[in-house]
Amino acid sequence: MTALDRFAAQKLQDLEARQLRRRLVDTARTDGTHAMRNERRLVSFSCNDYLNLSHHPQVKAAAIAALERYGTGAGASRLVTGNHPLFAELESRLAQLKGTEAACVFGSGYLANAGIIPALVGRDDLVLLDEFGHACLWAGARLARANVLAFRHNDIDHAASLLAEYRPQHANALIATDGVFSMDGDLAPLPALSTLAARTDSWLLVDDAHGLGVVGDGRGSRFAHADVPDVPLQMGTLSKAVGGYGGYLCASRAVIELIENRARSFIYSTGLPPATVAAAIAALDLISVDRELVTRPRRNARRFTRAAGLAEAQSAIVPVVLGTADKALAAAQLLEDEGFLVVAIRPPSVPDGTARLRLAFTAGHADIDIDRLAELVRDRVLA
Ligand SMILES: *Cc1c(COP(=O)(O)O)cnc(C)c1O
Repeated sequence: MTALDRFAAQKLQDLEARQLRRRLVDTARTDGTHAMRNERRLVSFSCNDYLNLSHHPQVKAAAIAALERYGTGAGASRLVTGNHPLFAELESRLAQLKGTEAACVFGSGYLANAGIIPALVGRDDLVLLDEFGHACLWAGARLARANVLAFRHNDIDHAASLLAEYRPQHANALIATDGVFSMDGDLAPLPALSTLAARTDSWLLVDDAHGLGVVGDGRGSRFAHADVPDVPLQMGTLSKAVGGYGGYLCASRAVIELIENRARSFIYSTGLPPATVAAAIAALDLISVDRELVTRPRRNARRFTRAAGLAEAQSAIVPVVLGTADKALAAAQLLEDEGFLVVAIRPPSVPDGTARLRLAFTAGHADIDIDRLAELVRDRVLA
């Protein structure tokens, strides 16, 4: 064993001792709602494919046609020769859906935030993040070398008091939050955050990974509020309700052009494969025309929360907080034995002491499976 291997083995042992070691499990998703694991077919409540579009015939056909026409890869960064003609179409669909002048597509949602934030703020600037904001918002803020502060989850008063204290010493300020929180499924108070941003001369960035296709008539979290707030920076991912892969920013033309010139994860990374871009276009077509489809994930989540006696779901995500990592692991195993794939989420993905089951509801889940899962959670997991 080399010193490096000993170092790695020791770190893994530490994780194992705290029930925090993770392992990859082969999982074959055979359609939008089922997955094969350990030779068993399970109903999955752990995929973010909220509209099951990853297996939609129209989406697959679009990907195959693009692959036949343009090949498997983009061949280079988009600023070199990787900007195949499908990008412009995808970006105009995204801008239209989000109500902005322009959009910019990245390799993934993580890459988007790792590029957007450092392109807009730096050492002299302030970044204020909701404490439960996604890991890639934190990564972007740290890469920017900005002064990063966390405000308590969805606590506008706390955000306002931090801004009152720290905003004056900084040139520019960015407030960033998830629109729908990935581990709790609740919505950020975007109208209040937008007002706060305007009042303090700050810029609001909303990560809408779990909003697009699910809330606000499918248009995302900005449109989930009666008063549609001004959100100058709407980013998100094509890997959840859109069913494929990729990230995006929707913003004004000026901001998008700056991002294309300054975001390092855009400039120095290869463009998405043509098939992936074509799939996203086809999926967005379905999201913008099928008003009924986009209501289903949340309707299913609410059917579950009602039956399980939990607080009403606000999105497609429902947390069942259990506390310790071993409790969450035991609950996941119990559900797997009953034919359900529900993954336990442990620190550091969630705060210490809040290990949980995180359930993700999709358009295609059958009522009978939702009801059975609710019964198990109510009578066996929470009892
Ligand atoms: C999944 C997720 C991302 C990352 O998106 P990818 O395209 O998977 O890299 C970013 N933000 C939030 C809130 C997410 O849940």
